[in-house]
Amino acid sequence: MRFTTLGTGTISLSPNRSCAGYLLEAPELQLLIDCGSGITRRLAERGTGWRTITHVAITHFHIDHHGDLPSLIFAWKYGFVPTRSAPVEIIGPLGTAELLARLAAAYGDWLTKPGFPLTIREIGPGAPIELPGGTRLSCHPVPHTPESVAYSMERGSRRVVYTGDTGPSESLGTWASGSDLLVCECSLPTGMNVPGHLTPELCGDLAAAAAPKHLALTHFYPPIEDVDVHAIVGRRYAGPVTLTSDGWSYEIEDE
Ligand SMILES: [Zn+2]
Ligand SMILES: [Zn+2]
Repeated sequence: MRFTTLGTGTISLSPNRSCAGYLLEAPELQLLIDCGSGITRRLAERGTGWRTITHVAITHFHIDHHGDLPSLIFAWKYGFVPTRSAPVEIIGPLGTAELLARLAAAYGDWLTKPGFPLTIREIGPGAPIELPGGTRLSCHPVPHTPESVAYSMERGSRRVVYTGDTGPSESLGTWASGSDLLVCECSLPTGMNVPGHLTPELCGDLAAAAAPKHLALTHFYPPIEDVDVHAIVGRRYAGPVTLTSDGWSYEIEDE
């Protein structure tokens, strides 16, 4: 499977970093994880693959993680001919169906009834979803907003974990252990941090607990760009660390 960071920024709008969005590609599966502002542009830059996304999973209801979802559904409905007929599934934590119903009330029925099969599936901890082609999606609650979750995508013994937005969490470190790739939010430097987010120090602590084979940091507010994140994280976690940019990809071979 291949994991790509489409958007590594936040709502602190940046010319270089789109709001949150990630792509997990595996056999029979094109899973978009979060779809913040700018992600439709990032998808378009990659060609026409946006037309064949099979699943969208959102981590929580902050708009920097789903603001482009209505645009994407509208693009699937009207953005090419012949029009889309393939089904799509929208996955998210408890409350996702209500969020989409509210968006449909604002924008129109097309949002949940776009003319091709669109299903909404709410995921809870301990109830993994089997996706096509043998990939399994599971979630873990994280301290950010009441509904917020981290996601794990597994194929056999291979595993990618994406924290979504989160504050420090011991249980997240335990749950994420054994991952090949841990994609971790790294919002703000110490001193500027706000509850429900991580600093480089806290990312290092989480990585020390989870011990992934590779740590990829994302969700950077601009002040983080002025901090030596590698040095801070490296004092806590000895493995390889990437400070991702939009378009970074990581490939994990099946066992
Ligand atoms: Zn965010
Ligand atoms: Zn958030």
